[in-house]
Amino acid sequence: MKARNKNYRAYSLSRRAFLRQTGIMLTGIYLPALSNTSVTIESMKHTNFDVIIIGGSYSGLAAGLALGRAQMNVLVVDGGHPCNKQTPYSHNFLTQDGTKPAETAWLAKQQVQKYTTVEFLNGIAVKSRKTVSGQFEIEMESGEKFRGDKLIIATGIKDQIPDIRGFSECWGISVLHCPFCHGWEVRNEKTGIFANGQDGFELCKLISNWTSELFLFTNGTSTLSPEQLQKLESHHITIVEKKVTRLEHSSG
Ligand SMILES: Cc1cc2nc3c(=O)[nH]c(=O)nc-3n(C[C@H](O)[C@H](O)[C@H](O)COP(=O)(O)OP(=O)(O)OC[C@H]3O[C@@H](n4cnc5c(N)ncnc54)[C@H](O)[C@@H]3O)c2cc1C
Repeated sequence: MKARNKNYRAYSLSRRAFLRQTGIMLTGIYLPALSNTSVTIESMKHTNFDVIIIGGSYSGLAAGLALGRAQMNVLVVDGGHPCNKQTPYSHNFLTQDGTKPAETAWLAKQQVQKYTTVEFLNGIAVKSRKTVSGQFEIEMESGEKFRGDKLIIATGIKDQIPDIRGFSECWGISVLHCPFCHGWEVRNEKTGIFANGQDGFELCKLISNWTSELFLFTNGTSTLSPEQLQKLESHHITIVEKKVTRLEHSSG
């Protein structure tokens, strides 16, 4: 690997060196509180609903709140694995800045549950189809089926985590996906950006707002243009082209 900045020699790729540099961070919180307040399939009041919502995290609960207040019969099914489950604290969200993600979801669910036409079910929906009568039918992993006139898919997104040992364990704790959500907590710290090419260049510009000690880990040969490299170097941003094989960490 070529280090474009001589200073790089001073750094090893220990987790402390990489992750504190990377400022990319992550934590492991599921939503047990949500599970406790959902009913079992056996105790459900209906199998036919005005609306079925697949996904009972923030988006699904927001939809459930609006529909519950509109007196709709709603089923919210949720697998209990929101994308932010490892993050210890969420930020940049009015009234909830610094709150544990599971607490925000718990509070939201408490509020939605006041609307008694909304039912909750823990589990994974594995199939959906349109019936001849024009309804939607969903099938749960358990084999149970439910029908709804409308179907809302609020299943979120699945992050594509690089196949690097330690990366997923650190996701949301010390490997951070968003400077607006988590940058303040690591401001002015040595921060590594894991990206290449145009993305890497743009991220360096963005994240230099939070710290001046930046390292760009391109995970192989840089694909930045000579102009981009020259610009980054003029801002004392170190380019590291070594392949990253693992992140050393303890509990993320
Ligand atoms: C690491 C990390 C940290 C973040 N930090 C912040 C922050 O500090 N501030 C901020 O504003 N935003 C933050 N975000 C973004 C925020 O978490 C998302 O915007 C938000 O969670 C999106 O909500 P959602 O309901 O669309 O999806 P999710 O929260 O991902 O929820 C989707 C839900 O659908 C369920 N589901 C999926 N498929 C099925 C299925 N087939 N059957 C049943 N259920 C299913 C899942 O189990 C999950 O509960 C962060 C995101 C990540 C990844």
